[in-house]
Amino acid sequence: MTPAEMTERFFGEARRRMDLAPSIERLLIMPKREVRVQVAIERDDGSIATYLGFRVQHDNARGPMKGGLRYHPHVDDDEVRSLASLMTWKTAVVGLPYGGAKGGIQCDPTTLSTRELERITRKLVDEIHDVIGPDTDIPAPDMGTNAQTMAWIFDQYSKYHGHSPAVVTGKPVDLYGSLGRDAATGRGLQLVTEAALRDLGRDVVGARVIVQGFGNVGSHTARLLHGAGARIVAVGDVKGAIAKDDGLDVPALLAHVKSTGSVVGFPDTRSVAADELLVLDCDVLVPAALGGVLHRDNARHVRASLVVEGANGPTTPEADAVLHERGIVVVPDILANAGGVTVSYFEWVQNLQHLSWAEARVDDELQQRMAASYATVRDVAKSKGMSLRTAAFVVAIGRVGKATVMRGI
Ligand code: NAD
Repeated sequence: MTPAEMTERFFGEARRRMDLAPSIERLLIMPKREVRVQVAIERDDGSIATYLGFRVQHDNARGPMKGGLRYHPHVDDDEVRSLASLMTWKTAVVGLPYGGAKGGIQCDPTTLSTRELERITRKLVDEIHDVIGPDTDIPAPDMGTNAQTMAWIFDQYSKYHGHSPAVVTGKPVDLYGSLGRDAATGRGLQLVTEAALRDLGRDVVGARVIVQGFGNVGSHTARLLHGAGARIVAVGDVKGAIAKDDGLDVPALLAHVKSTGSVVGFPDTRSVAADELLVLDCDVLVPAALGGVLHRDNARHVRASLVVEGANGPTTPEADAVLHERGIVVVPDILANAGGVTVSYFEWVQNLQHLSWAEARVDDELQQRMAASYATVRDVAKSKGMSLRTAAFVVAIGRVGKATVMRGI
């Protein structure tokens, strides 16, 4: 099943529980605009290389479109379309005044030099600057892009349209970025994990947690949950996985990863096979690496009572049904990992107002928004007897649908 089919299945599940006219449904599914461009650059050796660039703008009924820019060999129309629509639902579920978009370049950034990455990024802006902008569509970092990429976009876009820091978020803190953005997705995950545990009558203190992925999302989530008293009993990254039943020393693990590039080889732990990591005994499972890792074949063996989705689309619809049937609570990606886009929104607000917030204010406003969004979704799920995922889609589709109808076609 492709990522777009997965999103449509979850959308369809929610739509069946709502009173949505077929004409509005079609309007909400179909992207507003899809842009596909040629990105040609001169490589360092003088040869010419040509790449495909994409920007899919899914919906803007609730505000300017917002979404990441991914540099990866697997980027294609289908993936970008699906991620753009997920952004529409994600911004709506946490009540941000945004729509959804996503973009990318089909390239392998690990084979490109920094100068080449700069050229490819500036060339993409040359091709799409007319369709993005602070009031139109605001890109952000995603897989293969980072704060430096956003700085180049800000600079190149400003050459066409004048000084425009608000055209992208996730910029370096020294160049109109926001304090607190780095840890924001992990902080949001921590907040919803604690709230969901409370609803299960459990405390975060002593809860046994497994985290798959130890990059930006996974490492901050592990650090913050460990700080809140949870026991991080296993973690994994692309190179392997490790476990320790009485809990890992996360600050020491972070230092190990900084010096070696992987969780593998962290002293006093046992190594775990990649496919075993997700089915080890624990209370909370946080998939924070890739899409589709919880599928039909392993969902029956998951031993967590709570799954909190750090990655986008880590659970296939088949696995989702199995987990639901087994009474395992899943906090869906569009809610659980929305902390990042929420602080991106704060960055955009600061840029538009020429202000810079203290980190404590960023964290505090993030906490309030995530807590309120979780409570809204949880209440809908409870009152209508549906999963948190279906409830999150119901809330999001309701908000986007209402805005669409009120604005008129
Ligand atoms: P990252 O590149 O910083 O880290 C990814 C981690 O996943 C790394 O530790 C990597 O080793 C690991 N990984 C890669 N392949 C793996 C595999 N086959 N098995 C196990 N681990 C593997 O990325 P990130 O920013 O942490 O994003 C992780 C996920 O969260 C992605 O799905 C991303 O779309 C999603 N997400 C990120 C943010 C954000 O703010 N960064 C926000 C929302 C959603």
